[in-house]
Amino acid sequence: MRIPWVILTFMAQTISFWGAAGTVTGSRHLIETGKHKFLVDCGLFQGPREIRARNWESFPVDPQEIDAIILTHAHTDHIGYLPRLVKQGYRGPVYATQGTVGLCKISLPDGGRLQEEEARYHNKHKTSRHELAEPLYTEADAYEALKLLKTVRYFDFVDLPGKNVFRYLPAGHILGSAMAEIYFESGERINMTGDIGRYDRPIIKDPYHCDFAEYLVIESTYGNRLHDPGDAKDKIAEIMHQAYRDGSRILVPSFAIGRTQELLWYLHCLREEGNLPNMPIYVDSPMANAATLLYQQTTEDHDHDMKMDLAEGRSPFDPGMVRFVRDRNMSKSLNMAPGPFMVIAGSGMVSGGRIQHHLKAHLSDPSTILLFTGFQAQGTLGRMIMDGANEVKILGEIIPVEARVESLQMLSAHADYSEMLRWLKGFKFAPKKTFIVHGEPEASEGMKAHIESELGWDCFIPSHGQTFKLGE
Ligand SMILES: [Zn+2]
Repeated sequence: MRIPWVILTFMAQTISFWGAAGTVTGSRHLIETGKHKFLVDCGLFQGPREIRARNWESFPVDPQEIDAIILTHAHTDHIGYLPRLVKQGYRGPVYATQGTVGLCKISLPDGGRLQEEEARYHNKHKTSRHELAEPLYTEADAYEALKLLKTVRYFDFVDLPGKNVFRYLPAGHILGSAMAEIYFESGERINMTGDIGRYDRPIIKDPYHCDFAEYLVIESTYGNRLHDPGDAKDKIAEIMHQAYRDGSRILVPSFAIGRTQELLWYLHCLREEGNLPNMPIYVDSPMANAATLLYQQTTEDHDHDMKMDLAEGRSPFDPGMVRFVRDRNMSKSLNMAPGPFMVIAGSGMVSGGRIQHHLKAHLSDPSTILLFTGFQAQGTLGRMIMDGANEVKILGEIIPVEARVESLQMLSAHADYSEMLRWLKGFKFAPKKTFIVHGEPEASEGMKAHIESELGWDCFIPSHGQTFKLGE
């Protein structure tokens, strides 16, 4: 039977990119199927002021018209706008994996608290020229958003309105991270990768290989770069032994979700091998402590090695080796304690958190080792130190940088372009359209060039707010 053209047009889907287009934050991808609207990820814009300003713009469609939100993983640039959207009237389901739900419960209320604190601080120090600041959302707004979360297991199909369905596939990026594979009523599908992780990494499963999708939306954070091939475990061992010999303090600014747990895993492996000197390791971050517990409990994400360890009664997060600091006084007393020891504390880019207190006390000591665990964005204190600043201002005080500065860049949670191509080569046929998002412009261009030259696929780099038709 011939279907009239008018109906075909009506049935066609569209995708609009309302974030992470030409930048790495604010992932918000809106899929419309005629009558229905689905939002994949609901992320916060972070970084430069002009990018963050987008968080205050009204959402391009009425939040009440969105039928469902599908979250790929719990990084703030993928979930941090959710309480704002709920505050503006969104009341539908918010789908997420078990790990993502757990991490949302930890980080969204914390994000709301932080917004309230910042607004209070601004209003206390404002001059008459400044307007009164208000938080983007409050802790109470975050708790309202959490009520809408619905847990979905990997590989289970979930019905969406209008005979559309979706399922989650493991993405290997952080705990709970998933690609969302959405099947339209027409039978065509779109794979929204979220952030893609790496192969042969500890704790969580590798990215799941896909055979095909008519449409693909892929990230490109490292679209033009390759990771340092060095072995993280060897480097950690060398630093631990040196600190032990010299009685040094190792200060580790770390991201609470993912990086901290990976670092603990490597320390655990070194201990199992008898290659870890006997010195205390402190995790001085309430959020990292809560996330670590969740990493241990969420078994559906665990890879083979992690399962074996737990089955044999060993834990990479064993408190016998690691001490979790809960209380602020204990954190302060660590400032006075003699080395050797390691303290892992947030934030990962030294833009806040307890690591600032540790650095204020010990950055001027040449025996201190400052160990970065990941990318340091422009404008952060971490970046200034990495770039070789002689002195930095921490908590209102100028501190000379005398510590030895080291970095574990190889601990990145994002696939580089060669790992991305490995994943893409799992496809048996080319998608009709591949959209490249979540990258700085040169990274997205790099990824496009690699895909075009190695695979010959049609790639598009959407700009902010651009809409594409699917299903023609
Ligand atoms: Zn991420």
